[in-house]
Amino acid sequence: MGLEPSEFREAAHCMIDKIIDYHEGLKSGGHPIPAVEPGFMKERLPSAGPENKELWQTVFDDVENVVLDGSVHWLSSNNYGFFPTGISYPSILADILCSSTANVGLTWATSPSCTELETNMMDWLAKAINLPDCFLHNGKGPGGGVIQGSASEAILMTLLAARSKVMQKELSRDPKQSIHEITSRMVAYASKCSHSCVERTSQVALVPIRLLDVDENISIRGSVLQKAIEEDRRQRKIPVFVCATLGATVSCTYDNLMEMGPICEKEQIWLHVDAAYAGSALLCPEHRYIAHGLQHVTSFNFSPNKWMMVNLDCSALWVRNSLDMENSLNVNPVYFQHKKQSNTIDYRHWQVSLGRRFRSIKAKLWFVMRMIGLEGLRHHVRKGVGQAKLFEELVRSDNRFQVLFPVTLGLVCFRLCFPHATLEKINDLNLKLREEIEKDRQYVLTPSTVNEVYFLRFSAGMNFCNEESVRRCWEHVQEKSDLVLKSKI
Ligand code: PLP
Repeated sequence: MGLEPSEFREAAHCMIDKIIDYHEGLKSGGHPIPAVEPGFMKERLPSAGPENKELWQTVFDDVENVVLDGSVHWLSSNNYGFFPTGISYPSILADILCSSTANVGLTWATSPSCTELETNMMDWLAKAINLPDCFLHNGKGPGGGVIQGSASEAILMTLLAARSKVMQKELSRDPKQSIHEITSRMVAYASKCSHSCVERTSQVALVPIRLLDVDENISIRGSVLQKAIEEDRRQRKIPVFVCATLGATVSCTYDNLMEMGPICEKEQIWLHVDAAYAGSALLCPEHRYIAHGLQHVTSFNFSPNKWMMVNLDCSALWVRNSLDMENSLNVNPVYFQHKKQSNTIDYRHWQVSLGRRFRSIKAKLWFVMRMIGLEGLRHHVRKGVGQAKLFEELVRSDNRFQVLFPVTLGLVCFRLCFPHATLEKINDLNLKLREEIEKDRQYVLTPSTVNEVYFLRFSAGMNFCNEESVRRCWEHVQEKSDLVLKSKI
């Protein structure tokens, strides 16, 4: 096993100590962005791996210089850039356990608890975020959940399932059509402000996507969707899939499911909801209004590895009819067949890869939900929302700034703004502000654009951020703004 059991015990204790020290250090902020240039690693590593084994102590000594010094410290209390990345000690412990069992959950038979813990966790999680019963394995219908590695994979799997369903329908309607001809007529829909991964999944699935205009709330409205479907049907296209977003990455805004849902039902189009970030907020009853209309949707994903204290990778996906998943990518060679397959789930049909990790995926949720508890997870979400509200207040108290969208969860989109300046000039000013903030590596804020308006995103929700660190971040933004404005850019 590489190390003697006694050496492993000692090394593992030492590594845990290192992890705790690293985390404690990040609470005071520091510089989350490393001062390294592309190619820096070449100078820090020998050009080839060692022929003979090295002591674990020697390898650990290099962790600081080789790994941490060149890393972005996502857990720093000065990081407000991207949506949060989930982490917690229960989740890390589960990862260790997962790696240790070396189970590969290809089929139910290759690791029964791997599959069954997952189906139970998906039901726990569905209940925790109040999903309609139809998505539960133990619900009234054929629904169920599965864990994917990422939101991108969850969206890809549902698009492939929708494509396959339409293909079967078209072939049974007119068997003379070629698969190529049917595929070439397919079309999918999403908002202009959906995550770029939606466009990428459409490229992988070879189903062109039409990016729809949004209203002033950055939301797809039913009338826009209906018009697009009608236009496409007139041109003999086949609408296959709609991806709505709850909690758009650029603006944390929400597509209108109450309007889109009935249209998709009437038109028999698969309606998927991507709530990769905002889904964790559904743990809290006060945020559930953002998901009105879920009763109409065909599938739903959110990523506990963002805001639910679960380490990467863990993206939850539920479908109303699990047969749609099983029928889409079902290739069943003899070496995967087993006696129980008629009444068990083989999750390999629900994902691109065949092999799947065990504990990393399922026990992470099990450990996190049990050791932190749903109330503890709600507290974590509420803390992030509270920090965003505080930052919003601070921005609004300085009349040089503007908050762009309603702050509903942990994201504040803001910019420097002057009443009589042109959009170009204001964009330029905010670009300079972002460059100034980036230059000294102390705080991370990410830029974005909606309708050509350039702005900065402040995203709360990382574990070690608190009221004081939020105030410090705002002071930093103000200092940098003074600089930018003084230089009369
Ligand atoms: N969808 C939304 C709304 C997101 O915010 C993100 C990432 O931040 C994604 C999808 C992509 O997630 P992943 O990296 O898990 O594919």
